[in-house]
Amino acid sequence: MTQNITNMTNSTNNSAGAKIALVTGANKGIGLAIARGLGEEGFRVAVGARDDGRREAAVQELREAEIDAFGVALDVTSDEGVAAAARTIEAEAGRLDVLVNNAGIAGDADAGAQDPATLDLDVLRTVLDTNVLGAVRVTNAMLPLLEKSTEPRIVNISSDMGSLELHTGPLLAAYASSKTMLNALTVQYARRFEGTPMIVNSACPGYVATDFTGHSAPRSPQEGARIALRLATLPDDGPRGGFFNEAGPIPW
Ligand code: NAP
Repeated sequence: MTQNITNMTNSTNNSAGAKIALVTGANKGIGLAIARGLGEEGFRVAVGARDDGRREAAVQELREAEIDAFGVALDVTSDEGVAAAARTIEAEAGRLDVLVNNAGIAGDADAGAQDPATLDLDVLRTVLDTNVLGAVRVTNAMLPLLEKSTEPRIVNISSDMGSLELHTGPLLAAYASSKTMLNALTVQYARRFEGTPMIVNSACPGYVATDFTGHSAPRSPQEGARIALRLATLPDDGPRGGFFNEAGPIPW
């Protein structure tokens, strides 16, 4: 699999009409910035969010920016909720061209909860259920819709904290290892869809000022969204099964 994303021109929306993108956890932070960025590129954007009020506020904000957005009730930890979200997108759009698995949590880290030596198994379970099982749940529910697209793309929002080589950030045993596993799943999905139009990659947004980081980080959500936007709009010969930040490939 080639890992080169330099000099790649984005695939653009074709004459068949606007492409459809679903972003999970799109009501704020990096997810909202990805939704906005895809909308600005002409996508019709399904705003996946679990809270009705926060979802509607985000849809409203995007529509005020002249983005074609609609809300999709989506808690990534709910089998029934995710199945219902797939039915909503089927009814609204009939297919899906881009899925961005962005919803994620850091998990409680108080009192040694994410020190590997005292790792709280409930925290580990909760983080894995959202960051890993959530991505699988949503991806597999959306696959029939993605398979109706001529250029389906899946972007898993990971983190270099999950890199086995880089050892980035503080010790956060549940969160970091959830992103390692998400990366492993990216490779599994890429292998599963080798030779098909479906392109699957992991993206690291960098250290971004959101609620997640207490807004004490150097990058803006817009900057954090950039690599996801590139991977969501790769041409057919773009890289598959890779892990990228805005500067290029990063070590697993
Ligand atoms: P954020 O502002 O806290 O946003 C997280 C989003 O995920 C929110 O929309 C949240 O919804 C949603 N979410 C959480 N659990 C969910 C669930 N069960 N179902 C549906 N949605 C759920 O964080 P962010 O910084 O934008 O993070 C977005 C992604 O980037 C995460 O996967 C994170 O791991 C990754 N990341 C962030 C950074 C960073 O520096 N910020 C760095 C590397 C990777 P609610 O509003 O309902 O809670």
